[in-house]
Amino acid sequence: MQLPKYKKKKRIKLKVCQEPGCGREFWGHPIAKYCDLHRDIKQRQKPKKEIENIEAKNIIFRHNYTEVMDLSFKCCLDHCDFDFTVKVFPKQFVYPRFCMEHRNDFKRANFIRIMNKKNRDD
Ligand SMILES: [Zn+2]
Ligand SMILES: [Zn+2]
Repeated sequence: MQLPKYKKKKRIKLKVCQEPGCGREFWGHPIAKYCDLHRDIKQRQKPKKEIENIEAKNIIFRHNYTEVMDLSFKCCLDHCDFDFTVKVFPKQFVYPRFCMEHRNDFKRANFIRIMNKKNRDD
């Protein structure tokens, strides 16, 4: 993992995701309704099966930060070099595994397919 860069924190509160079956706690703006995953409208109203996969899309990031940080993470998808910014909170260790683009199952599958094809053609 890269050495994190960080910016100044913004005003945030501990909230509970409103998506049925989720109930995850997350840190967000006072008006935020959904956790990081369900903030993407395409992630809502999906079959329960998908919701069980949340773990597969997150990493455990152990840290000792005592204040909120914006850190730069690298997408865990092979061949994707995107950096994405993650808000890191004290005592919270679960964070997205993929860049914004690849948090979408369809786009991730599509990217993998393109990369596999590319590797075959080389
Ligand atoms: Zn949620
Ligand atoms: Zn990515």
